[in-house]
Amino acid sequence: MERSHSRFVYRCHLKIPGVDNDCLFCRIVAGEIPATVVHETDTTLAFRDIDPKAPVHVLVIPKGHHPDVASLARADPSAAADVLAAAAEVAEAEGLVKNGYRLLFNTGEYAGQVVFHVHGHVLGGEPLGPMLAPR
Ligand code: 5GP
Ligand code: ZN
Repeated sequence: MERSHSRFVYRCHLKIPGVDNDCLFCRIVAGEIPATVVHETDTTLAFRDIDPKAPVHVLVIPKGHHPDVASLARADPSAAADVLAAAAEVAEAEGLVKNGYRLLFNTGEYAGQVVFHVHGHVLGGEPLGPMLAPR
């Protein structure tokens, strides 16, 4: 956290246990970076994607830091189940269940993962087209 005053700038080095201060999504969990939160449980947080790729685009994450869905499933299967349940709740709350939606976990470089705190993309609100761009 950085606060500027008229004459000086100081940094807050307060460490929150279980939070990776270099991780964007850990910082959203910690409330250090704002996000439009649509659903929260003890173990999960869901917020709108900053650059939506569909009329509804919500990211669902575990509050604990795990780099990808495979690591999460290995390290904390109960949190993995919580993420799936939260994604289902979000889909319901966003009115996506009747027409269907996509739940996507980009994993690693070839999938284009750019944030290495596991997140499921809940996408819907219009026909989403083919699963992958035509080759
Ligand atoms: P990935 O490619 O890693 O599966 O997806 C990362 C997603 O995070 C992208 O869809 C991107 O738009 C979203 N994103 C990146 N930075 C932020 C941010 O600061 N806030 C929110 N809400 N979403 C972000
Ligand atoms: Zn993190």
